[in-house]
Amino acid sequence: MSLVPQQLVHALRNLDGFDENAFLEAHAEGKPPVSIRLNPLKPFPETLAPAPFGERVPWCENGYYLHERPAFIFDPLLHGGAYYVQEASSMFVSHALKTCGAEAPGLKVLDLCAAPGGKSTLIQSILAENSLLVSNEVIKSRAAILEENLTKWGGANTVVSNNDPRDFQKLQGFFDGIVVDAPCSGSGLFRKDPAAIDEWSEQNVALCSQRQQRILADVWPALKEGGFLIYSTCSYSIEENEHITDWMLEELGGESVPLDIPDNWGIMAVQSPLKNGYGYRFFPDRIKGEGFYLCCITKTTGSAKPSRTHTGRKTTSVPAQVYQQVATLLDKDFRFSLLPVGQQYAVLPAGMEEEIALLQSALYLKKAGVLAGMPSRKEWIPEHALALSPSLRHDVPEWELTLQEALTYLRKEDMQATAPFTGWGIVKYGGVPLGWIKALSNRVNNYYPAAWRILKKADGRY
Ligand code: SAM
Repeated sequence: MSLVPQQLVHALRNLDGFDENAFLEAHAEGKPPVSIRLNPLKPFPETLAPAPFGERVPWCENGYYLHERPAFIFDPLLHGGAYYVQEASSMFVSHALKTCGAEAPGLKVLDLCAAPGGKSTLIQSILAENSLLVSNEVIKSRAAILEENLTKWGGANTVVSNNDPRDFQKLQGFFDGIVVDAPCSGSGLFRKDPAAIDEWSEQNVALCSQRQQRILADVWPALKEGGFLIYSTCSYSIEENEHITDWMLEELGGESVPLDIPDNWGIMAVQSPLKNGYGYRFFPDRIKGEGFYLCCITKTTGSAKPSRTHTGRKTTSVPAQVYQQVATLLDKDFRFSLLPVGQQYAVLPAGMEEEIALLQSALYLKKAGVLAGMPSRKEWIPEHALALSPSLRHDVPEWELTLQEALTYLRKEDMQATAPFTGWGIVKYGGVPLGWIKALSNRVNNYYPAAWRILKKADGRY
């Protein structure tokens, strides 16, 4: 029995190169491949890999297939941000970003529909250290997951916001690049999520297509002239893909960007029916991955003036002793600035103060940079994010845990073993920092964030 709605198959017959039988077979029998993307900011101990590695994902430098799906939740390396579990087709954003020049220094890039953070962690890995990623999610509960995943990823050049796309109109011409991984009808993920099949309908495709246009129209003014926009969906529907490419080229005034695609990658290069805009389709019968569509355009007509770089807002001053205290916690080569956040301080790469102030004036920021902690009368109380940051200095007291000890820590249970130091220090698994402990003479205090602890038991129960 076919998993794919007849109306969808019928519509896809109009697409040149669509192989109906192979497509249906891939859905009836094919098992979705499992893939992960390694974090270049962190070590990855191969001997502790969660499952045997297969080949590299052709279009993504750090993407790898796994031979089987492990119980990821019980892998401390995942919680330490050493890798992200990501569907292989989605990793193609990496190739598009590179073609659009996203590796250049000093850029400001927005990921507009970002939760849970797959594309954002990937964008962070492509951007230069002095570029800024604004990772936004409109739904509050999903913004929390996004914040968690980006904190684990560890890059200091990241901001998480929780805003509606229309709020970005206050940031006219601010961004050099925007990624819109749009909410869509989700047909590309039928193999991974068969429940989505029951929710699929032609009406929903039409609604998604209208919403995609609204989102793009709202955010377009925030892109500077000459900037790039990468649009993607996990839908097969022409209305959400080629028609949106046509609509952007027609209504927004952009130029389509072709991507170089080796034939052996199996990606289907398409063109939109009205404006011949370049698009790239992923079909599970042609590639090892799920359904996906991506197109890139550059902004040729600049209706918007770039935003002022001066906000007029004075950045809040930070006491010199706080700078000195934080400096003792960070890698000595890391040039940073500090942002007060309530009683705490966040660390950002130096030189982003104006941009952050401007973003604060326009958006609700859930996170900016790496939360480093706060001073108390006696000592600096470190924040979890600092333990997961590659900017943490390398000679902080540390304790390498066994798998069982690491899981105890990540469940926020009492640590029975004795730490090799007293006072604050980090625990690691396979060389990857997991978080803070404070070791006293008679016990170890576990500072893993309660909201992130593993609740699932080894037998699958909670
Ligand atoms: N980019 C994410 C990743 O790679 O992990 C996946 C994003 S998912 C395809 C689309 C996101 O858009 C969801 O997080 C959803 O909450 C958000 N969304 C839903 N409605 C939206 C709207 N009207 N405007 C902006 N974002 C919306």
